[in-house]
Amino acid sequence: MKKINIAIDGHSSCGKSTIAKDLAKHFNYTYIDSGAMYRSVCLYCLENNIMQNGKLDQQKLLQHLDKIEITFSFDNELNKAQTIMNGKNIEDKIRTLYVSQNVSIISKIKEVRQKLIFLQRKIGENKGVVMDGRDIGSVVFPDAELKLFITASIEERARRRFSDLQDVSYDDVLENLMKRDADDSNRNENPLIQASDSILVDNTNMTKKEQFDKIIALCVQAMN
Ligand code: C5P
Repeated sequence: MKKINIAIDGHSSCGKSTIAKDLAKHFNYTYIDSGAMYRSVCLYCLENNIMQNGKLDQQKLLQHLDKIEITFSFDNELNKAQTIMNGKNIEDKIRTLYVSQNVSIISKIKEVRQKLIFLQRKIGENKGVVMDGRDIGSVVFPDAELKLFITASIEERARRRFSDLQDVSYDDVLENLMKRDADDSNRNENPLIQASDSILVDNTNMTKKEQFDKIIALCVQAMN
């Protein structure tokens, strides 16, 4: 079986990362969460007075962009990848609703996307990568051997996300998802689109096992 890159795109909270992690484990591939990279830049801006009350100082961000180093490490005890920014583990901080509410402002900046896409392509150079995001099949790896576009109804996605978070209401989660869907789909720079050669998987009414089996079969086909 040949080594391939697997590009997984789709709406926020549709379970992209869960299936991506499961595939990486199954095939012993590297899993990369590209959303974590955008979240990291967002956190940097929030912590360094580059973004306040939803207002971004773009000039300042561009001056700081080279100083932001993002890597991943695997925590064997937690059995989970951890996002490291400038030497600090920021995995928990980037998952808060506060970061979710501010990240779209960052992900529409061209220079941010250029920097992160460069890093993402470097990681994928030798194949054997499962990467999830919004523009992986359309922009980052246009030649990926397998491209999936995952979605689910907005209510189902909000329900799943809500059950992962504490101290927030279902309505706040739903509102954030609707806003991020709109922001991601309507921005000028690499909007969320389904690449013409990607396979649509709507998992609203699928169990994890059904989805996994379907996608494994697609992977095996693409590897042969
Ligand atoms: O995947 P996740 O929800 O963690 O991504 C956070 C945000 O990062 C998205 O709402 C989107 O604005 C941005 N993003 C992106 N392109 C990617 C991955 C994420 O614009 N490839």
